[in-house]
Amino acid sequence: MQAVISVKNLFKIYKMGNQTLAALNDVSMDVYVGEYIAVMGTSGSGKSTFMNILGCLDIPTKGEYLFNGESVISKSKIQLAHLRRDNIGFVFQSFNLLSRTTAFDNVELPLIYCNIPASERKIKVEKALVSVGLKDRMNNMPNMLSGGQQQRVAIARAIVNNPKIILADEPTGNLDTRTSMEIIQIFQLLNDEGITILMVTHEDDIAQTAKRKVVFRDGKMLKAEDTINRIIATEQLKILPKLEEVVI
Ligand code: ADP
Ligand code: MG
Repeated sequence: MQAVISVKNLFKIYKMGNQTLAALNDVSMDVYVGEYIAVMGTSGSGKSTFMNILGCLDIPTKGEYLFNGESVISKSKIQLAHLRRDNIGFVFQSFNLLSRTTAFDNVELPLIYCNIPASERKIKVEKALVSVGLKDRMNNMPNMLSGGQQQRVAIARAIVNNPKIILADEPTGNLDTRTSMEIIQIFQLLNDEGITILMVTHEDDIAQTAKRKVVFRDGKMLKAEDTINRIIATEQLKILPKLEEVVI
């Protein structure tokens, strides 16, 4: 089976004065279709650097990166933007929504970049928002929504273009435990539908809901282990309708 993401001997070196810092220090990893990986590690260990490189938002100092078997390193800026647009959904700790723009318009934005006609956009946006439980909130501005609801909008925006992979960098970092679990449940359902997920988290109980866990320390990826308690953890998540079952 071909890996959707394959990185080999990845380094990200920052030079500050005469000091150098290896934010990533020889990281290699394969990610296969359908995986759900929790990325853990203390603050400053390189997690965001890793996610940003995987998401083509940053480039490594050296190393190899293949996405669907194709070299990412050799691509131009516009090719990278297309790769991102067509394959990768991003979810951030701080939601990163446009503030004076409704939930609907925030989710519609990636589709506008794809030149999808307005009528088709409307169907896709509504379906994405309903699937994350925001049927009645489509016309709300972000400041009228709770943190959990804003993150749902961000997830809808990440999935609206049917990405192969979702990269989530501490998506529950600003949320209380209960809301975090609701958000994690959405990721769970998306993974059940076949979307590959990498998610940074500090919380062990959240990491347990993933299928595999990797840990960063000082820019190195320490170990990859299966999450043994996953079945118990996922059983505790309550169930929303699946995206394909949602009818507008
Ligand atoms: P994490 O997400 O695990 O908290 P980061 O990937 O954000 O860690 O950062 C890894 C290391 O790289 C940290 O020591 C951080 O200070 C450093 N770093 C990140 N971005 C930059 C930058 N633009 N310039 C210099 N150092 C950076
Ligand atoms: Mg980080």
